[in-house]
Amino acid sequence: MKDCCSHRINGLSRREAFGLIALGGGVSLLSTFAPSVARARGHTDMLLLTCMDYRLVDDTVTYMDGRGLRDKYDHVILAGASLGALNDKFPSWAPTFWSHLEVAITLHAIHKVMVIDHRDCGAYKVILGPESVDTPEKELATHTKELQTLRAEIKRRHEHLEVELGLMSLDGRVQDIA
Ligand SMILES: [Zn+2]
Repeated sequence: MKDCCSHRINGLSRREAFGLIALGGGVSLLSTFAPSVARARGHTDMLLLTCMDYRLVDDTVTYMDGRGLRDKYDHVILAGASLGALNDKFPSWAPTFWSHLEVAITLHAIHKVMVIDHRDCGAYKVILGPESVDTPEKELATHTKELQTLRAEIKRRHEHLEVELGLMSLDGRVQDIA
């Protein structure tokens, strides 16, 4: 597990770097370190939307690493992922998603959105009712409908964006949704 205090910044640990700043470098040293760290990680052209479920945080990172996308995506988290971005029960979440998408477009010129829902999602049970996902087949159909609805709305608002959809199982595997 990564220890934040041992994380290296330009050959210095974070603690050493901030120690230097405290000793007299001030803001100029901070601004010397921070941008170089960001530049060293390249850039992103994609935003990922996932659920908040604690069980799949590491699986999501592993999946994105496996796609060659480590540190190459902005990440928005809403319970229910696609359903979180479009539902009547929590109406403030949709503006949150759309404004983050606009910030990602403005700041990072993203051209792709990836939306990954997951099986056994508590948000789906809360928002749509347990019966909406009570068999694997209904679960797939319900997620597919919500994912495709969100993709259509993303394309309606930002037609230049590519949208990729997936459904993650609890073992971390992702099924592509057309
Ligand atoms: Zn969930």
